[in-house]
Amino acid sequence: MNQQSVSLPHETPVLNARLRREFRTMEAMVRIWCRTKHPGWASSGAVCPECQVFLDYARKRLEKCPYGEDKPTCAKCPVHCYKRAQREHAREVMRFAGPRMVWRHPWLSLMHLLDKRHRVEHPMEQRRRHFRSR
Ligand code: SF4
Ligand SMILES: [Zn+2]
Repeated sequence: MNQQSVSLPHETPVLNARLRREFRTMEAMVRIWCRTKHPGWASSGAVCPECQVFLDYARKRLEKCPYGEDKPTCAKCPVHCYKRAQREHAREVMRFAGPRMVWRHPWLSLMHLLDKRHRVEHPMEQRRRHFRSR
């Protein structure tokens, strides 16, 4: 399998370890998706422009994720910061690539499974609780 990395937006802030892993997982899933759905790009080692736009969007959301190291999976997140269309697309990509990840990226797949068990509160709820306890 070609492990060449897809291009990232310029001057991207450094992601912490948790968010980097999340991005690697998303990148791996989009790559699986793109190779099947947009096969013309498979030989170039890159994803197609459409998938690259989606990856850039996902990366931007991760850079702004309020949870940082404590991040849940986006599917279990009470914030849901993705716009509707991108959220639907992420769901579709995950439905398709998720089962294939087990064989191609077992470690990322296992970690994603563990992340699914992680629950977080909405940041507003955290703030409310913080002020109530003062
Ligand atoms: S959906 Fe939630 S967990 Fe995912 S990037 Fe947005 S805020 Fe973070
Ligand atoms: Zn594609």
